[in-house]
Amino acid sequence: MAETHNYVSGEWIESESGETAQSRNPADPSEVVGTVQSSTAADTRRAIAAADEAAEEWGATPGPERGAILRETGTILADRKASIVETLVREEGKTRSEAGGEVQRAIDIFHYYAGKASDIGGEGKESSARDATLSVRQEPVGVVAAITPWNYPIAIPAWKVAPALAAGNTVVLKPATVAGVTGAKLVEALDDAGLPDGVLNFVTGSGSVVGSVLTTDERVDAVSFTGSESVGDTVYQAAAEDQKRVQLEMGGKNPTVVAADADIDEAVDIVGSGAFGVTGQACTACSRAVVHESVYEDFVAGIAEYADALDIGAGMTDPDMGPQVTQSELDGTLEYIDIAQSEGARLVTGGGRPTGEPYEDGYFVEPTVFADVDPDMRIAQEEVFGPVLSVIPVDGFESALDVANGVEQGLSASIVTDDLRKAHRFVDEAEAGVVKTNEKTTGLELHVPFGGMKASSSETYREQGDAGLDFYTLSKTVYLN
Ligand code: NAP
Repeated sequence: MAETHNYVSGEWIESESGETAQSRNPADPSEVVGTVQSSTAADTRRAIAAADEAAEEWGATPGPERGAILRETGTILADRKASIVETLVREEGKTRSEAGGEVQRAIDIFHYYAGKASDIGGEGKESSARDATLSVRQEPVGVVAAITPWNYPIAIPAWKVAPALAAGNTVVLKPATVAGVTGAKLVEALDDAGLPDGVLNFVTGSGSVVGSVLTTDERVDAVSFTGSESVGDTVYQAAAEDQKRVQLEMGGKNPTVVAADADIDEAVDIVGSGAFGVTGQACTACSRAVVHESVYEDFVAGIAEYADALDIGAGMTDPDMGPQVTQSELDGTLEYIDIAQSEGARLVTGGGRPTGEPYEDGYFVEPTVFADVDPDMRIAQEEVFGPVLSVIPVDGFESALDVANGVEQGLSASIVTDDLRKAHRFVDEAEAGVVKTNEKTTGLELHVPFGGMKASSSETYREQGDAGLDFYTLSKTVYLN
């Protein structure tokens, strides 16, 4: 069992509360994977003070030197990949393959931003004044609070911490309590890579205590938050009041449109992998299949067969689909299944917990498909964050577009079609930060921007790629006469 401590000014320390929270294996909650500190407001302020104190020196550290530490962090993570995967599988419930992909993403992110650290700084410009040297400098923002969710407990901290450090900021990282043990693995790697004291600080504890101090303390210059819409709203209000820079990445209700000309087997694979991969616990998971009436019944039969064939089990055995992360997430999914039935949606397959020996205690739920879903039903409008797919029939491409866009969120959207004209119109008109043709809604390479439209995001700043650095830099225009 891992006893995780806070990391402040380069020291692993206990919370002044003397209390810890247990992290349990979702496939077998009797197994305690580790403990994390239940930190107080004072613990959090101490971490902010450490980041504040280290900010000037780290900001003045040459980019190549910062990059070398990030590169070494990536290498250390790669050396420890197998054991981090083991922790992630046991703490969060991902399958071994999914966890392997996530840890690899964290490694790649560190190597990517290690290279970028040498390029940040600015560029020279021509000036109309003959004796002026004109340039635009990129400077660090200062102290950054990174508040992260449980569903990618190492990749999401990595895609905030790596660009923030590359750009010369100091950071206080607050991971989600239920997956804090995995988050600490990233911090251990940075510590071992030689990151100077105070540059990264790590504080675990409830969002209402640690998170709210991070969003209100005046020494914090910027808050990067990924999580639910309701918490994101609170974070936004608090941070905006203090005029902090804020980045929000929140939920999705992502559609895949299946056009009349779609190859049904291909459409089933695309929708099935998007909906049931990582147990539907991805912000970009496909939760709505918007299907042309001419192929509707074939699609419903195909996707039901796909769901029924999925092997559900504990992540360590590398099944097709693991459990949900906590009892409350499982309860939330079961509640939405009840709501869908009471709204009149047709349950095609799934709809409950799998029965029998390996499933009794874990937070397992069957991959579930509802057909004949009306676009206005709650099951078609609200994020479930579990393996539940709504299939919505439409009578043409225009109505498919209306349904796809007819939700508050706008994170990811895809279409299955061989018709180039439809593909182009979908790309033009889909209201989503990520739009794909003939591909699942989940997954994105790390060198391109990621973020949503509408209620899915604050829209101002993107994460990942070059754009991922914008949030962490301030530009200064300089005339040297
Ligand atoms: P969550 O409940 O909103 O929590 C996210 C983080 O915020 C956690 O660290 C949480 O701490 C903290 N928090 C809670 N209350 C807070 C407060 N008042 N002030 C500051 N921080 C607070 O989300 P989750 O359940 O962990 O994650 C699932 C959600 O994340 C889904 O909606 C999903 O769509 C979204 N998500 C979005 C993206 C994206 O890039 N768009 C990516 C992944 C996930 P504690 O939990 O420890 O209390």
